[in-house]
Parts: sequence; C-alpha cells; structure tokens
Amino acid sequence: MSGGYPRPRACVIGGGIAGLTVAYEMCKAGVPATVYEAASDLGGLAASVRLGESYVDKYYHFICGGDRDLLELCGELGVPVFWKPTRTSYLLDGTLYPFTTAWDIARFKPLGPVQRAQLAAFALHCRRLRDWRSLEQRTARDWLIDRLGRHTYDVVWDSLLSAKFGEWRDRISAPWLWHRIWRVSQSRRHALAGERMGYTEGGTRSITTALVREIRGRGGDVVTGCPVTGLAVDADSIRAVLIDASHVEADVVVSTVPLPCLASILPDEAGSYRDELLGIDFIGVVCIMLGLRRRLTDSFWVNVNDGRAPFNGIIEYGNLDDTSPLGTHVAYVPMYLDPSSDRYRATDEELYAECVEALEALNLRFRREAIDEYRVFRDVHAQAICPPNFSGKVPGISSPIKGLYITDSTQLYPEDRNRSGMIRLAKAAARVAVRRASETHQRGSRPGEAAP
Ligand SMILES: Cc1cc2nc3c(=O)[nH]c(=O)nc-3n(C[C@H](O)[C@H](O)[C@H](O)COP(=O)(O)OP(=O)(O)OC[C@H]3O[C@@H](n4cnc5c(N)ncnc54)[C@H](O)[C@@H]3O)c2cc1C
Repeated sequence: MSGGYPRPRACVIGGGIAGLTVAYEMCKAGVPATVYEAASDLGGLAASVRLGESYVDKYYHFICGGDRDLLELCGELGVPVFWKPTRTSYLLDGTLYPFTTAWDIARFKPLGPVQRAQLAAFALHCRRLRDWRSLEQRTARDWLIDRLGRHTYDVVWDSLLSAKFGEWRDRISAPWLWHRIWRVSQSRRHALAGERMGYTEGGTRSITTALVREIRGRGGDVVTGCPVTGLAVDADSIRAVLIDASHVEADVVVSTVPLPCLASILPDEAGSYRDELLGIDFIGVVCIMLGLRRRLTDSFWVNVNDGRAPFNGIIEYGNLDDTSPLGTHVAYVPMYLDPSSDRYRATDEELYAECVEALEALNLRFRREAIDEYRVFRDVHAQAICPPNFSGKVPGISSPIKGLYITDSTQLYPEDRNRSGMIRLAKAAARVAVRRASETHQRGSRPGEAAP
C-alpha cells in the first residue's frame, strides 16, 4: 500500500491455525496485522504440548490427501509433510476386525453378506455423491437406516456417530456424515486401495511456529496471554478491540474464535446478530493422551463399540507418526461431552482411571504398567452440532459490523471441522479484510469519510 495516510490497524482475534493464517495472508498483502491470543500458547484446538524433548498435538491431527490448502501452506512455509499407510479397525464386543479396505468390509463378520455388500456400495456412493443439498433435511441416522438397515446402523454407525457427537448423535445431519466419509475416501487412490494419512513432525506446532516467524518478519505481531474482552463500534463500523480495559484502535478486525466466544465480546449494538451466533450449539471434548511403551493394535484408528467402554474410539497416533519422543507410543482416547456433564467435569485422575479400566477390559494388548505418562485435555467448544438444514444457520465471513470479519468451522459445513478448511476460510477472510483496509487507507480515515 502507498500514500501519506497512516496504515490501517488490523487485528486478528485468536491464535489458532485460522488466526495465524489470516495474519500471515494480510501481512503478505502489505497489511501488517497483530494477533491477540487469550491462552499462553498458540494453536487453539491444534495446540501442541511438550513430551520429552519434542512436541505432540494435544488432540490427534492427521492430514488427508484432499487437504489441499494445508498442504499448499506447508509447502509455502517449508514444513515437510510425511505420509504413511494407515489402518482402521473395529472393536466389537472384544474382537478386533480390520476395517480399512473394501476387502475388509467384505469380510466383516458382524454383518451378513447382503449387509456387507450394501455397506461397500454405500461407501462408493458417498465417494461419488456431489449433490449434498438433496440430503439437507435428513438426519444421518435416518439416511443410514434407510440405505443400510437398522442392524448395520446399530453395529457400525451408532458408535461412529457417538464417537463424534456423544448423546447428540441422532440430531446430526446427513450431509455432515456424507462429507466425512468423502473426505477420508480422498486418502485412497481408488475405492479398493488402502488409506494413507499424513502428519507434520512435532505436530501442528511446526506450522504455527513457521507462521509466527513469517508474520513477525513482515511487520505483523503475535501476542499471547491477551484475551480480547470486547469490541467498540462507531456508526456500524469497527473502531477498536478492548484488551485489559484499554482500546486498541482498529480499522479491520478478523475474529477466529468460536462463535459463542465472539458473541460474548460483541457490543450491544450487535443485538440480533449475537442471538443468531448463540443459536448454534457446541459440544466439548475430553481427551486422554497416553504415552505407552508398546502398541495396542496395528491400527491408527480403532472404532470401539463395546458397552464396557465409555468411549467410542482409540486413536493410536504412534501408528502414524512413530517419531515420537523417547520412543513413546502416543494414543488418544477422546470423549465428546456436554461441558456441564459430570463426566466432563470429572477430575483428570477419575477420567484416567475410568479409561484404563475400560482398556484393560477390551481385550487389546494393553497393560497399565506400559503407560509412561498420561495427560488429560479439555475444550468446551470442540465441535458445532449440525442438525438438518444447518446451512441456513451458518454465519458468513462478513458481519453486520463493517470491518469485522469472522471465521468459524461451521462455515465449512457440510465439511467437518479441519485445519485445511480453516486455512481456506482464513485466506478468504484475509482477502476481504485487506480490501476493506485498502479502502480505509485510500480514503485517509474511515470508509465513508472524506480524506483530509
Ligand atoms: C479432538 C479433535 C481432533 C481433531 N482432529 C483433526 C484432524 O485429524 N485433522 C484436522 O485437520 N483437524 C482436526 N481437528 C480440528 C482442528 O483442530 C480445528 O479445525 C482447528 O484447529 C481450528 O482452528 P481455528 O483457528 O479455527 O480455531 P481454534 O483452534 O479454536 O482457535 C481459536 C483461538 O481463539 C482463542 N480465543 C478464544 N477467545 C478469545 C478471546 N476473547 N481473545 C483472544 N483469543 C481468544 C482460543 O484460545 C484459540 O486459541 C480436530 C479437533 C479436535 C478437537
């Protein structure tokens, strides 16, 4: 940008992958932005924690073949992505069944031959389907029961949906499920091939660290431990972000925080917009990370359908990224829960004890003596609940407040929340924010005001 007017003040709220990408893109376009992150660490849901001499993500993060924006960003930042063939299996009442390829499904004993053929045909159908809007009014549950029958739903899908949405599983829309199946299918070269997943060494931190370096190198900044507590608006336009009771003047602000967090900092003028944002429900996640001395299975992802376990999945991350520190084999046991529930609020020790007891009962190669260490992580806004017709509720990138733009994983719908999608949204938000900043700059002060 050129001219004698002061540069626009650009703020980004939230230092997750989306916030850092917004700032990076704005800096690249000549609009230096400052990121304000409430937590002491960057990364948000994709934050990494120290384990021995290295870092791992607090939640499991894999890369799919179709994660174009993430792969492009890693290429641009010089962050290497490693790929590995992975396996999925199904643990049903004490027996572990392979569940990766069409051949595995063809041999999946808990279903009869007709049901297996229907399941394989359904996977192929999802791989080819594009017109997801035709499914908009349906729940995933009804769609699956219609196409595959009640038995297949109970054996296979009920626990898969529970693994992600807990007690809300019956409310989830069919397009969400379709996209999830489609996205994972993009990690196969063809329908009969095995799957391949990617990861970055040291977790998502390798990407966020590179982003921070680029942002600072281009005149922007990143500040942690700095919650934004409010937004100031003047005549429908953003004026400032409030930090520690002081006003940081801003011409453009991009919020990348979960919608309920944004709603809590909107000014009174935002009235019905705030209500719209609060109309979307979120669920929380509690995730137990185990540092193990030996593998549980050969699979990356184990779906669990067993009444003895309070969880529906085990993610053996060490079977994807085996470069973990000190030879520790990392596994995650996630539970999606209502943050007001007793289980969400249980102590780390209680959750760990419950998890270990269930793992011992599940007939895996698990011994509690093989646990080197464990950590428990929680997030209140882990996942939006997307019922039928959800697309009508999704907010746009532009808000009713001029100069305030937002990114949120709901905008990916029917795509599940994922880092690549958030990078794509972040680039789109940065583009409109840069345009606004440029208008502000050209007019010398605020859009709509005469230049001096
Ligand atoms: C259990 C789990 C597993 C996942 N697995 C995968 C996977 O395998 N692959 C994949 O690609 N994705 C995965 N994801 C999704 C991925 O982590 C998210 O989509 C992505 O990290 C979201 O990034 P974000 O920047 O949009 O939001 P967030 O990460 O939520 O970042 C928002 C940031 O805003 C900050 N903030 C909030 N309020 C304020 C405030 N008032 N002021 C300043 N800062 C504030 C928060 O502290 C946070 O750092 C997973 C997520 C979870 C929970």
